[in-house]
Amino acid sequence: MRFDILTIFPEFFDSPLACGMLRRAIQDGLVRVGRHDIREFTVDKHAMTDDRPFGGGEGMVMKPEPLAAAVHHVRGESGAAKVVLLSPQGRTLNQELATELAGEEQLILVCGRYEGVDERFRLAYVDCEVSVGDYILTGGEPAALALLDCVVRLLPGVLGCGDSAANDTFSLGSRGGLKYPQYTRPRNFEGMEVPEVLLSGDHATIARWRLVEAVRRTRQRRPDLLKAADFTPAERRLLAKEGIDLA
Ligand code: SAM
Repeated sequence: MRFDILTIFPEFFDSPLACGMLRRAIQDGLVRVGRHDIREFTVDKHAMTDDRPFGGGEGMVMKPEPLAAAVHHVRGESGAAKVVLLSPQGRTLNQELATELAGEEQLILVCGRYEGVDERFRLAYVDCEVSVGDYILTGGEPAALALLDCVVRLLPGVLGCGDSAANDTFSLGSRGGLKYPQYTRPRNFEGMEVPEVLLSGDHATIARWRLVEAVRRTRQRRPDLLKAADFTPAERRLLAKEGIDLA
């Protein structure tokens, strides 16, 4: 999969792309990430990427021509690229949207700054707008990085263990809810023991415990994610026995 990031701060991505899973995915050729300085697509002698808003008001607005020229430059021959504008007015990024985007060949991520981008660029070039939540960032770069990170994680071959993304919080294996609590060595940490069941080696009992704890946690923290229909009759009986109400 290919990502092209349009930004006035290409250096913002230097260190995140040079660490951990993103670095490995790039090195292994599973993903290609291009960073493009919008300033290089300006046509005036001052290399202006922004200007004052028509109608007055505070702040600056990103000019449409350099953004359009940058999109033309990176779109490539196939024209299959999807142009994503990072925007607080977009669809909220979640695991479902990340999974959809992971099915694309090429994503062009447009990072806004200042008061945002000229509306005509949005209308003519943007296929979808993505928000990382109901708060305002200084620019689209942290949002583009979050999107890139969660999409790359879903690409085949990126995670070491084949099914680990499927069992994550919000994913199918966790029925779209939160993941169960996890423990590692030591067995006793500051007086707190690892639950006995996890030491039993009895995989069926462990799976039942994990289901119950995952649902209990989801019920407490994110009841909006729980759908009774996602559970088999046997699971519903088990959860009812543990006093967990799916309603
Ligand atoms: N004036 C704009 C408004 O009120 O909607 C906010 C502009 S914001 C300061 C500058 C840029 O940061 C935006 O164009 C967008 O690219 C990015 N941005 C800010 N918050 C974001 C969010 N929650 N999700 C995605 N991008 C965001």
